[in-house]
Amino acid sequence: MTATVIRDVPKQLFIAGSWQDAESDRTLSVDNPATGEELCQVADASPADGRRAAEAAVAAQPSWAATPPRVRSEILRRAYDIIVSRTEELALLMTLEMGKPLAEARGEVAYAAEFFRWFSEEAVRIDGGMTTAPDGKNRIMVTRQPVGPCLLITPWNFPLAMGTRKIGPAVAAGCTMVLKPAPQTPLSTLALAAILTEAGLPDGVLNIVTTTEAAGVVEPLVRGGQIRKLSFTGSTPVGRILLAQSADTVVRTSLELGGNAPVIVFDDAALDVAVEGTLLAKMRNMGESCCAANRIFVHTSIADEFASRLATRMAALTVGPGTEPGIDVGPLIDTAGRDKVHNLVLDAVEQGAKVLTGGELPDGPGYFYPPTVLTNVSTDSAIMHTEVFGPVAAILTFDDEDEVVAAANDTEFGLASYLFTQGLDRGLRVSERLESGMIGLNTGLVSNPAAPFGGIKQSGLGREGGRVGIDEFLEYKYVAVPVRDGRD
Ligand code: NAP
Repeated sequence: MTATVIRDVPKQLFIAGSWQDAESDRTLSVDNPATGEELCQVADASPADGRRAAEAAVAAQPSWAATPPRVRSEILRRAYDIIVSRTEELALLMTLEMGKPLAEARGEVAYAAEFFRWFSEEAVRIDGGMTTAPDGKNRIMVTRQPVGPCLLITPWNFPLAMGTRKIGPAVAAGCTMVLKPAPQTPLSTLALAAILTEAGLPDGVLNIVTTTEAAGVVEPLVRGGQIRKLSFTGSTPVGRILLAQSADTVVRTSLELGGNAPVIVFDDAALDVAVEGTLLAKMRNMGESCCAANRIFVHTSIADEFASRLATRMAALTVGPGTEPGIDVGPLIDTAGRDKVHNLVLDAVEQGAKVLTGGELPDGPGYFYPPTVLTNVSTDSAIMHTEVFGPVAAILTFDDEDEVVAAANDTEFGLASYLFTQGLDRGLRVSERLESGMIGLNTGLVSNPAAPFGGIKQSGLGREGGRVGIDEFLEYKYVAVPVRDGRD
């Protein structure tokens, strides 16, 4: 099936409903991180291609905004059905370009599809209202309109779900869009464009530009005045650049950025729940998740037991190519990603950390890194302040609640946090005190299409998914209507 999915996926730019080569005929290489070998080449857009894509989105905006919500809804619903029916092909495609094991890729296909189902239901529930002003004379009529042409930028770690989490609400709200996926993983996005076309999405509503020239393609669009909304998922440093660019033309901005999630395991936690929850929060997607557990604080009284159980579970995970059966941990995305993880481990060890399992750089091919558990980690180690994005669990100890809450909050990030306790009061109290947009209370998984996903502090602006996800793509319009007294 590998050769077939690679052969069948589109490899060109998708502009105004047609598949096109880049104007320069340039292409970029998409590689398999499990082998380091090339899978195929796809079009490599220039800034001129980006402008054409934006023009197509701008041209399609008026008729798409006027398309009945039910029609928009049913396109998303059909796309949901098609994605689910093609789970195996899409999962394989994702594993090949990104590395995650097939079982996890199937999970992402289901998660990604769910955003289309959720927003197909939201498309027909966009509300407004009419109220009487306090003076009794004016009526305040409020409607909601699509924000306009959008620029969507996605990262490589969840190639399908990061696309549907943005396309779903944009389509539901009546916005057109240009989507720029990460160059490491463009194939899932291109497959998605073909599926949406099959589901009936009109030409020009969704345009895809794959490129190695992200800044050159994106900046003119952000500053150009025609794009009304930027929705970006990626790292905090790039988010800062795009926020600054957006300021000049006051482009509405949603940012889903990096994280540095703390896990807190209290002495009254159910230890098996805490170990399994931490394992999930750490190892989902090989640790290449914005919500990944980054700093694991365990109460001193249970720290040895917790660390030994976690190390046993981590050491038992099978590392290998995600396409093979029984694999738990695939490769990291590329050499740079793997080197970064290994250097964080070396630095922690130099500062006194003890390696309970893992920590050795394996030989190639592929960018594999073993599940690693570190204890006795110094708070000065770089791993405490850096998003690891790899399968390394760094464990620290604490003695009291105030101390651990302060330590957990001691970061510029504020995306996800996890805590394990059987105390209801403590669970709710600490959830309120933790500075993050999302909390896993006795669970290592927070992602849910029906929940508002997003961060505070330098982890982002706005929310994706849930009841509020569509709001990011809608503007309020207020019409003042004086109603004269009929007896005047
Ligand atoms: P990244 O380097 O910030 O890249 C994200 C996207 O932005 C890519 O498509 C990238 O293309 C593009 N990009 C980079 N520089 C740009 C620029 N100057 N102008 C316009 N676009 C630019 O992040 P990544 O390494 O792909 O993804 C990992 C990061 O994403 C982590 O920090 C992770 O926490 C975060 N993330 C956050 C969430 C969330 O929901 N909060 C979800 C998933 C991932 P190029 O690769 O070509 O530069």
